Amino acid sequence: MKKETKCIEAGYTPKNGEPRMIPIIQSTTFKYDTSADMGKLFDLEAEGYFYTRLQNPTNDMVASKIAALEGGTAAMLTSSGQAATFISVFNLANAGDHVVASSSIYGGSFNLFNVTMRKMGIDFTFVDPDCSDEELEAAFKPNTKAVFGETIANPALIVLDIERFAVAAHKHGVPLIIDNTFATPINCRPFEWGADIVTHSTTKYMDGHDATVGGVIVDSGKFDWMAHADKFPGLCTPDDSYHGITYAEKFGKEKAFITKATAQLMRDFGAIPSPMNCYILNLGLESLAVRMQRHCENAQKVAEFLQSNPNVSYVTYPGLPGDKYYERARKYMPDGTCGVISFGVKGGRKTAEEFMKHLKLAIIATHVADAHTCVLHPASSTHRQMTDEELLAGGVRPDMVRLSVGIENADDIMDDLRQALEASQKA
Ligand code: PLP
Repeated sequence: MKKETKCIEAGYTPKNGEPRMIPIIQSTTFKYDTSADMGKLFDLEAEGYFYTRLQNPTNDMVASKIAALEGGTAAMLTSSGQAATFISVFNLANAGDHVVASSSIYGGSFNLFNVTMRKMGIDFTFVDPDCSDEELEAAFKPNTKAVFGETIANPALIVLDIERFAVAAHKHGVPLIIDNTFATPINCRPFEWGADIVTHSTTKYMDGHDATVGGVIVDSGKFDWMAHADKFPGLCTPDDSYHGITYAEKFGKEKAFITKATAQLMRDFGAIPSPMNCYILNLGLESLAVRMQRHCENAQKVAEFLQSNPNVSYVTYPGLPGDKYYERARKYMPDGTCGVISFGVKGGRKTAEEFMKHLKLAIIATHVADAHTCVLHPASSTHRQMTDEELLAGGVRPDMVRLSVGIENADDIMDDLRQALEASQKA
């Protein structure tokens, strides 16, 4: 099946007389005839469901649709993108371990790694995604367990050289984890470039309608855990909480990672999305391919419009010829990148603030990547306590606006931006 068909058909095939849409199994519990039947599930000897804190059939149908879209062998839905990021890393790294991460990642992921997971005893080295091969090499330590990066970084819109990071990770016997939220599997499939694990905030384009918070972890099934058994005792030595099974032996390369994440971490953290939310996510996935195409077409038009507008100081969009990441984006995302653009309003912080006041169609929101066009001016909202100098030191320009281009008519979006840009200069 092609990706457009997978969006509709993958994950669930109704049998004769069954419902066309995936059923919402809104049940915490599942009934068994004998304790022995249930016991087999607890020993991971049989597949099945016993408690929705670990697994639910609706969730699994949607997870397998996303696995099919990414070209992976197994997937697990989580209650948020944050939970997906956390579990993907914690499934490999424990106290005393180390992870190499791109420094250009979503702020929430950076804080999770740099503050919370450090408190758990996991060490991180952040590398500039455009660092030299030598600098990347120097970031690894004997206790490194994974490398983490984002296909298109939020909000910097830096495109990661996935292939180069995969080669470096594999040279050190560890997997590459890629957060593919902004590109989605419609525009980029990181497994084709050597990544081993993919995560998403499904809250963004996958849901696409401001309706549900969620995340997903997908395994490529390619990483050979047993070949690096000394590095991954969690996968390659017996788990006492399941009568001593060894995940990598019992479930193989294809299923070991997700089975461990489900059986141990979902069991213990309970970061499971509700079946109802998974059903809503599935509705979003059905139109993902069509929406991504429209997001990218609209964003391209809007980026070109902004570039030629006299009231705009600069535009960053990897789809624009001349953008620092244009060539790399062509390689990894030949069909388009995403709908997120950043640009500067001529005049600085005050004029940008004025621009925001005059927008009529674009809504002001911290959110990105869904059907509605939305904007954020960090200097007058999320970062308002910082001076221009402090902002610049943190890599945020005071005049910078982050624009998430929706799927409305592009002319309406541009009209709105044009009038607000004009008004900004009269203040
Ligand atoms: N990854 C990226 C690239 C994001 O943009 C976000 C949220 O904005 C997350 C992860 C975290 O996802 P969530 O908000 O669903 O927890």
